[in-house]
Formats: sequence, C-alpha cells, structure tokens
Amino acid sequence: MRNLFDHLDKVQRVLASRPFGLVTDVDGTISWIAPSPQEAIVSPMCRRYLSALVDRLDLVAVISGRPLSEVMGMVGVEGVVYVGNHGLEMWNKDAPQMWPGSERYIDIIASAVDALNNMLDIDGLFFENKGLTASIHYRNCTDTDFARGQILAVVESLSQVGDLRITDGRKVVELRPRLEVDKGSALKSLIEKYDLSGVIYIGDDVSDVDAFEALHNSRIKGMAIGVGSDEAPSQLYEAADFAIDGVGQVERLLGQLVEVTTD
Ligand SMILES: [Mg+2]
Repeated sequence: MRNLFDHLDKVQRVLASRPFGLVTDVDGTISWIAPSPQEAIVSPMCRRYLSALVDRLDLVAVISGRPLSEVMGMVGVEGVVYVGNHGLEMWNKDAPQMWPGSERYIDIIASAVDALNNMLDIDGLFFENKGLTASIHYRNCTDTDFARGQILAVVESLSQVGDLRITDGRKVVELRPRLEVDKGSALKSLIEKYDLSGVIYIGDDVSDVDAFEALHNSRIKGMAIGVGSDEAPSQLYEAADFAIDGVGQVERLLGQLVEVTTD
C-alpha cells in the first residue's frame, strides 16, 4: 500500500474538487479503541482540526455505528453533520431523523438483545442496545475467537434473525435491520445533498468498506483512506486507495488538511 504522506499532491487534487467534503468514521479513526465503548474518547487534536475544517470545507461529516445522540456528544464539534447507527439516523436541520421504515426495528432489536442476554453466558461479553441496531462486544473475553463463534451460532438461532443483518466489526458482532442502509448509502446521500465533487473518506473497519465502495462507484473525485491496525480486516486494505497507521496518522492527515486550506 502506498504511503499517503508521499502523495499529498493527490490529496490536494481531491481537495480542489469543490464542493469538497471530508467524511470520517469515529471509533478507531478519530478516537482510540478502548476496552468498552463508554471509555473511548475522541482525540483532542482531531477535534480541534475538525472544528477548524468546518469553516474551510463545504462539508465535514461524521458517520458512525453509534447512536446519533451518542456520536454527537462524543465528537461535539459544532457545524459537523452527524450520521449515526450506520446511516439509519441523521441530524437534519434541528432534529434527528430516522430512516423511513426503520422505527419498527426498535422492538425487534430490543427483543433480540434480551434473548441473547439470556442465551449467552460468556465472561466479558458486553451487550449494547443502540435503538435501531445492537452490538455484542467480545473484546474483553478471554478467548475472543470462541466468543465470536458462540455469538454467531446463537444469533442464527434467534426468531428475529430473518429481520436482521448480522455484521462483524473490530471485536464486535452487530445486529442491524435488514434494510439497504449502510455507511455507503449514507455517504451517497451526503454527496447528493451537498452536491459534492470531491470527498475524502476515512475509516478503519468492515462497515467503512461500504463507504469506500460507494465513493469509488460515484462519479466524483474520491479518496478512500483506511486506518490500519492489527485488527484491520483485509477488505479494508483491498478497498482503500491509501492506508495510514492508527489515530496518530489521522491526526497528522487532518493537520495537513488544515495547513493546505489555510490562505
Ligand atoms: Mg471505526
């Protein structure tokens, strides 16, 4: 994989395609992975750079698998456009907006999480009901491969499984509505809504690959940047135009964007 920092001219070229949008994932991209989602914090440097970029770019957006209210509180930068729950929730004007037809999944997700809670008894598992989606984190289990296998087996036996999409992430199994909504569709709607001609998208996980592909399938000038780690899935490197290493290099990249957009 080519080193992005040797190809900053390419970054400049995408940036010159106005209207330009910077779109980023949160966990593992601008925030360090923590033992539990509640302990994760956004890099103060990333927050500062994002806040500077809001005034210089046509769009700065964040797309996360976290619930919308949580991601807004966690990032907390005014002027950023927030998308939560893998595209199912978006902040629109002054109010949160759910993807049409997704409301009915709140009960389905809640009952699935209850059932899993009763059926799975493994030390270190953490169940997170996020409203329209749910996460089962196994990062703190002694044998993470075993835990993942057990979770997937039990999920397959759920009566709700026909309504759900089961996806994998960094030490997490996710339950999502069986809808055509993901970070890719979310990015596509941002490109349309803000009439973007250039986009840089940064992400670290399987769900971000959907956004990489949406960017490559669009007609605009796009750059998909994968944030590498020892947990990064191989699809991430295959779909990314460039890979960078960890949150530290995301800080460096955002700093460069601030620098080159300074008059
Ligand atoms: Mg992530």
